[in-house]
Amino acid sequence: MANDKIVCSIVVPVFNEELVVNESYKRLKEVMESSGVSYEIIFINDGSRDKTVSIINKICEVDKTVRLIDFSRNFGHQVAITAGMDFSSGECVIVIDADLQDPPEVMLEMLEKWRKGYDVVYGKRVKRRGETVFKKATAMFFYRFLKIMTDVDIPVDAGDFRLIDRKVCDALKKVHEKNRFVRGLISWMGFKQTSVEFERQPRYAGVTKYPLKKMVKFAFDAITSFSYKPLKIASYAGILLSFFSFIYLVYVLYLRLFTARTVPGWTSTLAVSLLFNGIILMMLGIIGEYIGRIYDEAKNRPLYIIREMNNFEDERK
Ligand code: UDP
Ligand code: MG
Repeated sequence: MANDKIVCSIVVPVFNEELVVNESYKRLKEVMESSGVSYEIIFINDGSRDKTVSIINKICEVDKTVRLIDFSRNFGHQVAITAGMDFSSGECVIVIDADLQDPPEVMLEMLEKWRKGYDVVYGKRVKRRGETVFKKATAMFFYRFLKIMTDVDIPVDAGDFRLIDRKVCDALKKVHEKNRFVRGLISWMGFKQTSVEFERQPRYAGVTKYPLKKMVKFAFDAITSFSYKPLKIASYAGILLSFFSFIYLVYVLYLRLFTARTVPGWTSTLAVSLLFNGIILMMLGIIGEYIGRIYDEAKNRPLYIIREMNNFEDERK
């Protein structure tokens, strides 16, 4: 297999997935064998603290189609899939979660559409099974909110489970953004895109590696990478508030100059001051989110650091 041209690279990010990697590898292998195309499976270990790495290393020993990129620490899911793409060599690349929530069989449909000439085939979740009401609700809200907030046409209910052609992958390599929202970048690039529908399955084993904190960061990255709208909303709200403040100021001056009713009003003063301070802090926060990301870009640190690689025979990079 080593010298054959690889048709399909499968990119699988893993973070503390000792309970699922073996099964995940088995299912991916089964499906790819049935597809009849040459392939490689690239696991990116995103700083797992369990046995994930040793399990993958063992698989690597017996199966040379499996490769490992081992990060020096946890860099996040979006960075992990970026690394997988960077080191992939297939004519197309499929990104899939390790927990088998994205059914591997759908990859065959993706390959089918790719052969028909599509450059991007994304998986659209028509149903989510075995996830909490909270996860479903936040996901549903997130995709719709993102649609309103951004100008790029990012498909609703599509995750990172998708196939991309080599040319899309190469184009993506030229994007060096630090706080990445990969699926948004892929939509932004254009090309010929289509979707396949699938039902998201319950996790095979283990628990989600996306706690609320990571979800919030992810949502902020998604919105700030593709939209200035939060900043615009901040400035419009500012203008509107100044307008009302000005009117109120005229009223206050009138009371002071022409009437004797100026002492009461402690409540309204405090109410206005509290409200306005809150709004101002919120807007500063929004601006801060952008500045923080500008700072990340300016530092220009590498996206990820690799501790070790396995089964990559050529010394790419
Ligand atoms: N993952 C990762 N780094 C992280 C978090 C998650 O590589 O910091 C991987 C994880 O191992 C899995 C995939 O990303 O293969 C999706 O994560 P998960 O299934 O936990 O997210 P959910 O499906 O609950 O949104
Ligand atoms: Mg999952």
